[in-house]
Amino acid sequence: MTLQRIVIDPIQMQANQLHLTPDQQRYLQRVLRYHPGDRFLILDGQGRQWLAELTANRALAAVVSPVEGPGAAPPIDITLMAALPKGNGFDQVVRQATELGVGCIQPVISDRTLLQPSPKRLERWRRIAIEAVEQSEGLWVPPILPPHPWSSLLGTSQGLRYLCLARQDAPSLLASLLPQSCRRLTLAVGPEGGWSPAEVDAALAAGFQPVSLGKTVLRAVTAPVVALAIAQAAADLHQR
Ligand code: SAH
Repeated sequence: MTLQRIVIDPIQMQANQLHLTPDQQRYLQRVLRYHPGDRFLILDGQGRQWLAELTANRALAAVVSPVEGPGAAPPIDITLMAALPKGNGFDQVVRQATELGVGCIQPVISDRTLLQPSPKRLERWRRIAIEAVEQSEGLWVPPILPPHPWSSLLGTSQGLRYLCLARQDAPSLLASLLPQSCRRLTLAVGPEGGWSPAEVDAALAAGFQPVSLGKTVLRAVTAPVVALAIAQAAADLHQR
């Protein structure tokens, strides 16, 4: 049977004991109906995992043993820079990007972004990423950085950098990635209204390469998922 996974903060672990948060206690005991002696996996969100066992003390679990895994670093470290779509659209982007093994998520405030997110949103996105890791059996919880204006992010991006552009004759992302094997990648996706011409110019001047994700115009919540799926598929091929 597949073991339930719970992402913890390393400070919850002391020696061989795990101090469960009230939410984790509720989830394990009320939702999953676990009893003392029942086992589950705990992850630190950075590649390490342990087998744990519920104890008679509701607030504690015993850490049984470390579990060997593939290790912390994902084979390819992808930063997704995505302009914030309207409404709750970014929730979906965070969930699906995490399922696809993104390394880091940088929300972008672009010229045509309508949303000015509150700090509460950031907390919410971080919780969504944790849930997505637990569900998708990933090991890495991507950091979600505070939103920043596009212009201030151009200098911070690392590795190969691609700017996703709809309705342009840009080379395809897949064709750009296949001939080379890279460890670090930044993928930038615009908002519903697209990048402004000034944003495109600034990105190209900063070394981003324009790429296409296909012939159709994808929604701002779909494009990041497609870009990540293509990048992961190309990375998988290189690993073989
Ligand atoms: N209304 C905009 C489209 C915005 S789609 C326009 O006409 O240009 C939102 C974002 O998704 C775009 O900024 C782009 O980054 C990405 N995107 C959507 N479809 C794409 C495609 N076929 N190729 C590359 N990027 C795409």
